[in-house]
Amino acid sequence: MHRCQLSAVEIKDPSSHMSDKQQQLLQLKDHFARRVYEEARHVVNSWGQLAEVHWQEVWFNEFTLAATKLVGLAERHGFMPLAEASGQLVAVLAAAEAHITPSSDVLEQLNTAIGQIATACSRANDNMALKQVSAGRKPVYLCFNGSAQATLLKEQLASFGIPAHCFANQVDLNEAILYRLPAAMVVDTDFGDQGVALVSTLQMDLRAPIPVIFYCQQTPSLAIRLAVVRANGIALYVGQMDVDILIEQLIGVYSLRSEPPFRVLVVDDSRAQAMYAERTLNYAGLFTRNVNDPFEVLEVIESFNPDAILMDIYMPGCMGPELAQVIRQQDKYDSIPILYLSAESDIDKQLDAVGRGGDDFLTKPVPKTVLIATVLNRCRRHRGLRAQMIRDSLTGLVDHNHTLDTLAKLIGQNLEAALPLTFVMIDLDRFKQVNDSYGHAMGDRVIRALALYLKQRFRLTDVIGRYGGEEFALILPDTDEATAALLLDEVRSGFEKLTHHQGPVEINVTFSAGVATWTPGEDASALAHRADLALYQAKANGRNRIALASELPH
Ligand code: GH3
Ligand code: MG
Ligand code: MG
Repeated sequence: MHRCQLSAVEIKDPSSHMSDKQQQLLQLKDHFARRVYEEARHVVNSWGQLAEVHWQEVWFNEFTLAATKLVGLAERHGFMPLAEASGQLVAVLAAAEAHITPSSDVLEQLNTAIGQIATACSRANDNMALKQVSAGRKPVYLCFNGSAQATLLKEQLASFGIPAHCFANQVDLNEAILYRLPAAMVVDTDFGDQGVALVSTLQMDLRAPIPVIFYCQQTPSLAIRLAVVRANGIALYVGQMDVDILIEQLIGVYSLRSEPPFRVLVVDDSRAQAMYAERTLNYAGLFTRNVNDPFEVLEVIESFNPDAILMDIYMPGCMGPELAQVIRQQDKYDSIPILYLSAESDIDKQLDAVGRGGDDFLTKPVPKTVLIATVLNRCRRHRGLRAQMIRDSLTGLVDHNHTLDTLAKLIGQNLEAALPLTFVMIDLDRFKQVNDSYGHAMGDRVIRALALYLKQRFRLTDVIGRYGGEEFALILPDTDEATAALLLDEVRSGFEKLTHHQGPVEINVTFSAGVATWTPGEDASALAHRADLALYQAKANGRNRIALASELPH
């Protein structure tokens, strides 16, 4: 059961029989837990910056220092999975060198360790979340001239477990910042007549900038837009603030999301040339694999799953553009960007190559920075497009097919590990009535609210999908039926209390859920079917409740 992995933050019943001393002890443990997570977040973020800062001595030393500190903190406070993962990271770093770019294999080992740190943290955060959603979170500071808007926003954030403080003037804000840095700020550009300037000054004194979301009542001038960018504003809302999107951005601030590094396949018959390209890309933290024989490419694409392919033009037995066309013949590889890297300077030949399945042409010698920037750009766009293909536009959750594919994949992986794996089906109650009485727009609002609510309540390792119109699915790895039921019931009662606003109308909506834990030999669709039967049972029992597949009448 994942809920017991980190003893320091185990869920305790916050009941009154605890003595003051015990309560204090618990608070102290929470305080240390927060410090450990902050350090872990720092390590993960620092790794995420690698593509921007590149592998260099200053970065390496800071990164190693942070990782070492994390090991110490995690060990001292009994966070064993975290201590183990960060210990692993330190061991790999010890074998690497500060000023020499490591090989793709070493980068991969580092990345695995970072992934384990992120997983250990999201589980631990989840443990805290169960006790009291907002207990472990840094607050968001809201700075508006009028208090009405700030107060409403504060209430809405609170229902998503995001603690917020409102400030009416600059003096109070400065004082609060000295006492505790916020996770993020939402600032009216007119706050104290100079919201943006105030934030700029503030950011200058900080080691790492605070994410700031600005709000502007009237259409801003270009000067204000520029100032917002320079003050590290991550967004600027004009006129009306879309609370759903704001909450989504803030949830992003809290989560330890570490995007896996990009993977680039280098196809070149010359080992030396390939090595040069690989070293350059590794320097920016990208994973590479090199193929010297063009006839091996298809196999390697399948196993390596690249985000981009860097290809030589002249190779024995097969030209680059021909190979690109062969790759493009297969639908599933149709969107992988192909970049040519060649000494060919004849513009007609370059155009011909790009016309035949390529996306870009880089002429050797290409400056390192240009190679990195071009490849990074292509990789980012590719990932972005793929994410759009499998995500639902209303909620940003993965769609039905992708949810089932992932379930099948996880079942496959689970065959050896034999950990519990639970699938949950969720369906909003009497949702047709919501649409009929308050309109489709209100219905959409509720669907988005549930999506957000689930996102901030579950771990990053859990999969949340939009299964159908008003149906959602959850895949909870390493979670047994009883734990899932407990968790779902908490989420159910939290969601029930959430008020959905639209103009003067305020409503509450409930959902029912069916929970089924994988049994050996069962495939994805059989498991989903049992969860569906349980959901049906929950509806039949009166809705706004959870039913377990194991308790279904035979
Ligand atoms: P039950 O408690 O039995 O689930 O009742 P219900 O009314 O929720 O069930 P039913 O399946 O009959 O109705 C689901 C409704 O959900 C019908 C459809 O109009 C609405 N719906 C499905 N997708 C969307 C959507 O994307 N937006 C909105 N606003 N409504 C949707
Ligand atoms: Mg339905
Ligand atoms: Mg329904």
